[in-house]
Amino acid sequence: MNSQLTFLFSFLLSTLLINFSSAYQCFQTPDIAFLPLLEEDFSFLNTDSTFPNLRINADFSSIQKSPLKEYIEKDLLPPIIDYFQSALKVKRPLKGTIKVPASQVNLCNTPTPKIFHTEGVEADLSLLVTAKALVNSTCAAKAYACRRASSGRPVISKLILNTEFLPLPNGSYSIHERNVNLVMHEVLHALGFAEPSFQHYLDESGNKRVNHVRTIKVNGEERTILDVEPLTKRVRKHFGCSSIQGALLENDGGHGTKNYHFERRVFFNEIMSSGLIPDARLSELSLAVLEGSGWYQPDYSFAEPFFFGQGQGCEFYNGANVTTNTEEYCVEKASSMGCAPTGRGKGRCLSDYRSDRYKFFSPRLEYDCANIEAEKTASLKGLEAFGVKAESRCFSGTLSFEKKEQKSTGFCFKYQCQGQGLDTVLEVQIGNNKAFCTSQGPIKVEGLSGELNCPDPLAYCNTVGEKFCPKNCMGRGDCVNNKCVCKHGFAGPDCSMMMSDKSSIISEINVLTTFNKN
Ligand SMILES: [Zn+2]
Repeated sequence: MNSQLTFLFSFLLSTLLINFSSAYQCFQTPDIAFLPLLEEDFSFLNTDSTFPNLRINADFSSIQKSPLKEYIEKDLLPPIIDYFQSALKVKRPLKGTIKVPASQVNLCNTPTPKIFHTEGVEADLSLLVTAKALVNSTCAAKAYACRRASSGRPVISKLILNTEFLPLPNGSYSIHERNVNLVMHEVLHALGFAEPSFQHYLDESGNKRVNHVRTIKVNGEERTILDVEPLTKRVRKHFGCSSIQGALLENDGGHGTKNYHFERRVFFNEIMSSGLIPDARLSELSLAVLEGSGWYQPDYSFAEPFFFGQGQGCEFYNGANVTTNTEEYCVEKASSMGCAPTGRGKGRCLSDYRSDRYKFFSPRLEYDCANIEAEKTASLKGLEAFGVKAESRCFSGTLSFEKKEQKSTGFCFKYQCQGQGLDTVLEVQIGNNKAFCTSQGPIKVEGLSGELNCPDPLAYCNTVGEKFCPKNCMGRGDCVNNKCVCKHGFAGPDCSMMMSDKSSIISEINVLTTFNKN
């Protein structure tokens, strides 16, 4: 590999691989609502006609011209806007355009973009995007609403990107995916998944909700929950506990973290627990919060599968008598590696500041099977498979080229699910060899010492091993046999990339070709 490129990638990785345990504390600016409320069209509520799709506009005029601005404007925000415009319908679209009186020279603490004083912005939500270096801040990005419609729905929201945490992908799909997840998390805040917005939520009849954010005793502790339908119903079903009163909100972190997110301990890689865990999932639960706001009607085919804590029951959810050796948590020393509960990568056994001291095999980009650069950290070099095209997953075991006994660790292997029901066989590709998991437990692999830990094939193939279309192809393609077929001009496993734009994103395969040529 070209040494300059190696350097570039090591640099990018080192900038990204901020310690999981200390990362990303954001202190949100409180909601400001000093402008006149905007008028909405209520007519869709009283007819059988379907609600119109949400219209989102993004303004980049305050960002200085740079390659990063190009990336944010052309590659990063457009797929996210396409996703939410396709996934959400708005119950009360705005009448006319979003305008601001000429006297209002500042909007969300930055100079008002001219268009708000002239013809106005034609959208239901306007995102004012800024990007600047917040040196010495651990906040990667933040978003808040600064103007609402009369229904309480945010119509102008500020999105602040900390350039210290926003690397240019330069061909890496993994870095682009990480940036997309970060910004999608923020846009969910901007849409109303945030403490200041909760108080404006409406019920099915359009009246302000009451008592939906409340403190209850959970396992002897005072905890804040968000109880709106269909969220509570879906949370109960997910965890398999009918007595759940609402979604547990984060109780750790400062203002802007606490009560702005799902609790990390039980919602681990749900995107609204954090957008910065590799393989974060925008699940039905985040969409159900948006539906519960009373402002939107989500299309749940845009939800990504989410398996953390699935079916684990009330004790798991409440944190009572949780044996820490469930699949979700780990008890090992931080030096030991295992498979992250997301299934897509390896991780070290660590807690983070939001996790109520519980430890996870914490996924990181440098061990993510979907990151082609993670090959450097492989313990079975040449036999493991990395990169988004490999579609490999993490399998644990003690496999080794050496004869002496090894500690358990994680490996990235390609795999296939064969058969159905109880006859399901998980075929694991180890180099040129195939290992067949027919039931849960350790098996031997030809040519290697140690063992491969087979997961239960049926359970595995129906959860973390199941292939799916990420983000439902961002509304930019069709999901065919669990693969995105992108519309013309779009590319990538989730169609979040531009086919034509060679300046900032090219496919990983092209990068590989470049590497091999050099
Ligand atoms: Zn957040």
